[in-house]
Amino acid sequence: MIYLKTDEEIELMRISNQIVAKTLAEVCKNIRPGVTTLQLDAIAETFIRDNGATPTFLGYNGFPNTLCVSVNDVVVHGIPSNYALKEGDVVSVDCGAEVNGFHGDSCYTFCVGEVSEEVKALLRTTKESLYKGIEKAVDGMRLGDVSFAIQSHCEERGYSVVREMVGHGIGRAMHEEPEVPNYGRRGNGLKLKSGMVIAIEPMINMGKRNIRIDRDGWTARTVDGMPAAHFEHTVAIRKGQADILSSFEYIEQILGINAI
Ligand code: MG
Ligand code: MG
Repeated sequence: MIYLKTDEEIELMRISNQIVAKTLAEVCKNIRPGVTTLQLDAIAETFIRDNGATPTFLGYNGFPNTLCVSVNDVVVHGIPSNYALKEGDVVSVDCGAEVNGFHGDSCYTFCVGEVSEEVKALLRTTKESLYKGIEKAVDGMRLGDVSFAIQSHCEERGYSVVREMVGHGIGRAMHEEPEVPNYGRRGNGLKLKSGMVIAIEPMINMGKRNIRIDRDGWTARTVDGMPAAHFEHTVAIRKGQADILSSFEYIEQILGINAI
């Protein structure tokens, strides 16, 4: 069942997603060598609650924290820990928050200090692919058009697309139908319609696409140990152009010229 949102509901979803966007910016301010991923998690939880919202990952299927913090070869669902970030790491921070009954969901991959050009290129390409997907996320296009745009942009540059994890519809629940894969064929799949709201989230590996899950049941890492990147926006389907409800603006104001 795909729930179409009214204009009023989309505005409520913008509020949730803007809280997520500002939470990621608060985390961004604190990313530096020496900070632990649990410290980042605490900053996010406090900020979300101070803004009258609820962290949605916390307790979701038993997930223990507010953020998914995924370092280097961890693709997604990293559990915050006492690990202290170090110079040269890349860290994806995925955040969800709910307020007024609607969810926001967004993710950004950050560099810790100086990161190799090779890894920066992976991050840049992954973020670009997100926007390539969003360009196709308009009324009348098909889900396969979004998926293909992401996949082709990344594969043409020698990266691989994770298959096991996908984007999703979002609304009153964090995960709604449809699934939004980051690989697919043009012209295939569900026809997109104004009022659908989806989270588009390319998870892209520098090496091979294969992943494995740690014994904690959450942490998804690349089998070959090479780094991965993950960027996510929540977008409302509209005629002509998608409406991006989340935002990287607050983050990138902080990063300034260092934005990837
Ligand atoms: Mg997310
Ligand atoms: Mg998501």
